Amino acid sequence: MRTKPAAVGRRRPSGRPGVAWFGPFVLLCAPGGRQAGREPCRTSVCPAHKNASGAAGRDEVTGHSAPCRGSHPLRYPVRRDLPDASARVHPSAHTRAFARARGRADARRRASVLRRARTRTSVLRRARATRSRRPSPVRARPVKLIVLGAGPAYSDRAGSVGASYLLVHDDQALVLDLGQGAFPSLVRTIEPSRLLAVVVSHLHPDHFIDLVPLRHYLRYEFEPPRRVTVHAPAGLARRLDALHDEPGFTAQALDVVELAPGVRSIGPFELEAGLVTHNSESYAFRVRAGTGAGAGARGEPGFVYSGDCGRADDLRALIRPGDTLLTEVAFGPGPVPPGAQHLDGPAVGRLAAATGVGRLLLTHLQMGFDPEETIASVRAWYDGDIRFVWPGDRLEV
Ligand SMILES: [Zn+2]
Ligand SMILES: [Zn+2]
Repeated sequence: MRTKPAAVGRRRPSGRPGVAWFGPFVLLCAPGGRQAGREPCRTSVCPAHKNASGAAGRDEVTGHSAPCRGSHPLRYPVRRDLPDASARVHPSAHTRAFARARGRADARRRASVLRRARTRTSVLRRARATRSRRPSPVRARPVKLIVLGAGPAYSDRAGSVGASYLLVHDDQALVLDLGQGAFPSLVRTIEPSRLLAVVVSHLHPDHFIDLVPLRHYLRYEFEPPRRVTVHAPAGLARRLDALHDEPGFTAQALDVVELAPGVRSIGPFELEAGLVTHNSESYAFRVRAGTGAGAGARGEPGFVYSGDCGRADDLRALIRPGDTLLTEVAFGPGPVPPGAQHLDGPAVGRLAAATGVGRLLLTHLQMGFDPEETIASVRAWYDGDIRFVWPGDRLEV
């Protein structure tokens, strides 16, 4: 029978091959990562690779260029005789002939890239000129809702992600809530440092915890670090700092602005915040695109998000007839247990009927409740357009 060697659990010196034992597990240590012969792409717009949003060198939402997230074969060969397998031979170690040949190849590649770029530019210029001759549309461009996450605090539903809703208008975006697991969806959809703001409805982790990966991303992916503004109830920075046991942790990448009831402008968005019954400071929001005399004067419908809410009537002050209402319906067909500050289908249905919402989007359904039964319980009170939203959904609101 095999016995434990004396070196159980001890780490091997980094970069050295070997074997380590951890209880019943054997850890084989071998040089990895860069030995595969690839390195991260350092270019801001890489025509050769898809970026985080999946488009070649372009951000999916804004269409702007975004840093490439791909990798390239190592430019110089790996020296496998060194302890660090990623160490490379400096170009000076190559022969002159090799360098000249590489120079010629580089020049040919540069010329071809320039040719392609010139062709693209002239096509774009022609398209832009055609667009500018067309009369501008009377109605403002709608707001696009991209659901990054629609889950509750815990779930057995595959792919469940905490609450997070991206709103895009005129190539500008803000996100309402950033719950557990939402950051990967966010970074696949838009380059996050381009966000106008993150707006947090209340300080329950299923609505804000992925501010931590966002903070790390802004801090470590860019030099100098980039920053994003976060509108949140009082105490957010203190909580994130405490989580990391590091004073100033939040402030290194996030500019936190305290929420208060009322209207504020965020880029092209007008955000109206209203207090709702849930925890000590919880907000629901009405968002519409276009500030000043624009959309409001034309009476265009807005988008209302309930956050978490324990009293449906708290939302009435925010809703105008024709609005799209995205509301939590945590307890499905109901009833909501005493003390649980959430909503159920009948409460949501009565609210929708009383306020004349144009469309009802349901979300935040807790584990164990059936979506179809929930919709039926809402439909008993409201016969308009009802549906659940799920991660990946894209709608105009
Ligand atoms: Zn919640
Ligand atoms: Zn909550």
